[in-house]
Amino acid sequence: MPNLSFVSPTRNSPWGTYLSQIDAVEPYLGNLARWVETLRRPKRALIVDIPIELDNGTIAHYEGYRVQHSLTRGPGKGGVRYHPDVTLEEVMALSAWMTIKNAAVNLPYGGAKGGIRLDPKTLSMKELEKVTRRYTSEIGIIIGPQQDIPAPDVNTNGQIMAWMMDTYSMNTGATSTGVVTGKPIALGGSLGRVQATGRGVFVIGREAMRRLNIEMDGARIAVQGFGNVGSIAAKLFAAAGAKIVAVQDHTGTILNERGFDMQNLLDHVAKTGGVGGFAGGDRIANDDFWKVKSDVLIPAALEGQISKERAEGLQTRLVLEGANGPTTPDGDAVLADRGIVVVPDVIANSGGVTVSYFEWVQDFSSFFWTEDEINVRLDKIITGAFKHIWETSEQHRISLRTAAFVVACTRVLEAREERGLYP
Ligand code: GLU
Repeated sequence: MPNLSFVSPTRNSPWGTYLSQIDAVEPYLGNLARWVETLRRPKRALIVDIPIELDNGTIAHYEGYRVQHSLTRGPGKGGVRYHPDVTLEEVMALSAWMTIKNAAVNLPYGGAKGGIRLDPKTLSMKELEKVTRRYTSEIGIIIGPQQDIPAPDVNTNGQIMAWMMDTYSMNTGATSTGVVTGKPIALGGSLGRVQATGRGVFVIGREAMRRLNIEMDGARIAVQGFGNVGSIAAKLFAAAGAKIVAVQDHTGTILNERGFDMQNLLDHVAKTGGVGGFAGGDRIANDDFWKVKSDVLIPAALEGQISKERAEGLQTRLVLEGANGPTTPDGDAVLADRGIVVVPDVIANSGGVTVSYFEWVQDFSSFFWTEDEINVRLDKIITGAFKHIWETSEQHRISLRTAAFVVACTRVLEAREERGLYP
């Protein structure tokens, strides 16, 4: 494994996972393999200190990051996550997956990601605003509408994007709507952006099920993570006739063989903050979630969930990666052996960044589209990208993940070669 002096990845850690995905694609890159080392190191990584005065008068320091993995095909693009487990290594991997995702869908972007190591639940709104504004100021030297465009990710939302947009605009002296996406509609946000990642998971799931002859009507779906991605995807699958039989989030795991009443479940989550305690299903042990019989399993939480051990016990036909990096290399190998198809994150959850791209385009042209136009264009772009990846996987007899990497890395490295090295 090539070494960067500032991280020591293990095989199944996020950066280690990404490196093994690059190893797998290398034999399919032909002459472009000469450039592959480019993909094994981020172009630029910024670590920032974020000091704020807490409501109780004490000073707290948080560590934040913005990593630009690649700017070869366009400006950096990717979310910002607030989580107590955020590390530089994780943000590097997430930024690299954005490079692959943006290229797999053919969006004119490189890949970037940011994060702050903190638990947002422990901060007041005022403190959260201070952290966000200081972080934005600190990374202000490398972000911008033409340089690198942040967006929401785990535990960040439209309000945080509004503070980021305002801070950047105040610092630069001009209202700059295009510096972040996932903004509230009133500030140049796009219709459909909040739902876009979950909608994309549904659209790609529908396409994959069609190819695998899995009937949508009555299909059994299990979802891990019931935030912005998992809950919207579950709602759309249920509306299309599938049954959501198991859901897990940080508050517990619930099961209902007949399928949950989605409206009741969504109301319960809106009221209590999680699926735990929902009366319309039975509580089961968290570990048992991985043994529930399903047609489609949607991991839509964090990285590293489908380990070798869990993969050995899964009773599903299709894994649809709503989260980034939910399957470890060891887990991936077991799923391949067992004939369980995995639709990788870089295409399955690409709906979010695709509508982010629409938002950025709308901001530049100051002309806004209807929700219908957005959903139709989203469907068309990601369905086309999925078809290309599916055909590439058949052509080389490789997994969909490696096929997505073939499509994406070929685009990135072609651009790399055409641009040439500077100086
Ligand atoms: N955080 C989302 C992702 O992982 C969206 C990124 C974006 O819209 O830039 O794809």
